[in-house]
Amino acid sequence: MDLKQHIRTVPDFPKPGIEFYDISTLLAHPRAWRACVRRLADAVDDMQPDVLVGIESRGFLTAAPLALELGLGFVMVRKKGKLPGEVVHYEYGLEYGTDTIEIQKDAIESGQRIVILDDLLATGGTLAASAALCKQMGGDVRGAVCIIELTDLKGRDKINIPFTSLLKYE
Ligand code: AMP
Repeated sequence: MDLKQHIRTVPDFPKPGIEFYDISTLLAHPRAWRACVRRLADAVDDMQPDVLVGIESRGFLTAAPLALELGLGFVMVRKKGKLPGEVVHYEYGLEYGTDTIEIQKDAIESGQRIVILDDLLATGGTLAASAALCKQMGGDVRGAVCIIELTDLKGRDKINIPFTSLLKYE
């Protein structure tokens, strides 16, 4: 199954000059999505996690079916102010300004083996911050897996953990 034919590319979204890789068309096609989940599951399984962490919001879509498939728990990394109860946060730099992500304080136990999921790796900033947050909580971050990798941006070099992607675009 050629998964790339199910990814829609949208030019100039959300701003001029950005090519947006839209997984809606993949999610809408049950056979392609099932094939994608199976391939992700193989990549994740190799890293032998205890728990999966998904990054808001398309990382949730990516991680949730894998957690069921592999019989693992699923933990959310969210933007600031969305999670109830006690949270741990992590601030990271963007091109202009900063952003903050959060995780619930009791979501990860010290020493738990973690694999982080998102739909796409671009500059690696989001994934690097999520990995740092999980490590700050004592998690053993085994690696990260994404459906799509934009290889020219070299995000893989920035995140500094084992990384696997299914589909590569320059
Ligand atoms: P980055 O932190 O630069 O690696 O950006 C990754 C995050 O932004 C992921 O959560 C992606 O969903 C989103 N993202 C960045 N660039 C794109 C793109 N060209 N198409 C779709 N999503 C993107």
